[in-house]
Amino acid sequence: MTLAPWHAEDWQRLLARRAQDRLPHALLLCGPAGLGKRAFADAIVAALLCERAGEREDGLACGHCRACALLKAGSHPDAVRVTLELRDDGGGTDQRRRTEITVDQIRTLGERLALTPQFGGMQIALIDPADAMNASAANALLKTLEEPTPATLIALIADRPARLPATIRSRCQRIDFRLPPRAQALGWLNAQGVETKTADTALDVAAGNPGVAMELARSDGLKLHAEVDADLRALRGGQSSASQIAMRWSKSEPERRLWFAAMQLQDCARALTAPAELPKLAAGFDRINRAREQLRGPLRTELVILDALSALAA
Ligand SMILES: [Zn+2]
Repeated sequence: MTLAPWHAEDWQRLLARRAQDRLPHALLLCGPAGLGKRAFADAIVAALLCERAGEREDGLACGHCRACALLKAGSHPDAVRVTLELRDDGGGTDQRRRTEITVDQIRTLGERLALTPQFGGMQIALIDPADAMNASAANALLKTLEEPTPATLIALIADRPARLPATIRSRCQRIDFRLPPRAQALGWLNAQGVETKTADTALDVAAGNPGVAMELARSDGLKLHAEVDADLRALRGGQSSASQIAMRWSKSEPERRLWFAAMQLQDCARALTAPAELPKLAAGFDRINRAREQLRGPLRTELVILDALSALAA
C-alpha cells in the first residue's frame, strides 16, 4: 500500500496524533473525487489495526501480520464498512445499489461499536459515501458521535461534505483533500506509468485533478474528449446540427460525452474576458448537467442530448 505524495502532510499529522494517543473519534475525509480519499482511509484502517504498527518508518501497515491478512480478506472483525447496499428487489445481474445509506445500517453500526473490540485493539468504521446518509441515518450517527465508545474511530468519506448536517461536521476532525501542485501531479502520473506528454494533456482536461487525469489517460478518455471538443466547435460554427451530434453521442458513452461538454463550458467560463457571457455559460453548464441526470430517467437518450445541445446552440 502506498500513499500519494499530496497525502504526506495529513498522514504525518495523524501519525503524530496517534503517537500522542490523541486520535480523534471521528474523521471527515472530504474533497473532490480523484484525490485518493478512499486509499487514504484504507491506509488509516490498516495502520491502526496492524499488529506490527510502528515497525515501518512511514507508519503504514506491515501488510503480512494476522490483522493485515484478515483485513485484506475482508474479514477483520474490528473493521466495519458502511456503504450503499444492493437493493433486495433487484436480483439477477441487474442488481442496483440503493442511493441512500439507511438508518438501519447506522443503528447496526452503533450497536457493533458498543461491543468490545474482538482483537483488543481499536474498532474502526468507514462510512462511504457519508454524504449519502439520509436524514434519519444522519440523526442516528449523531447520537453515536455524541457518546463515543473508547478505542473507536469512525471515518466519514464525502465528495460533497456540505450535504452533511453541520452538527455532524462539527464533531469530526476534517481533512480536506485539495488539488496538488501540477509538478507533483505530473510526477505521480509518471510514476503510475503515464508518459509525460499524455499526462500533461490529461491534467489539462481534468483541470489538474490527478486521479481524473489517470482515468482519462488509461481509458480512451482523451480521444473522446477531443471528439466532443470538435463536435461542439462544429455546432457553434454551424457545420454540424444538434441532431447529427445527438445521434452520434447517444450511440457511445453519452454520459461521459456530456460530462466533457460540461467541463468544456467550465473551462470557457474560467478563460472568459467578457463577464456578460458568464450567465449564458452557467446556464449551459446547468443544462448539460441536468441532461446527465435525465439519462438515468425514462426519456430516450438521443432526445435528452438533442434537447441540451439545442439549448446550447441557441
Ligand atoms: Zn500488519
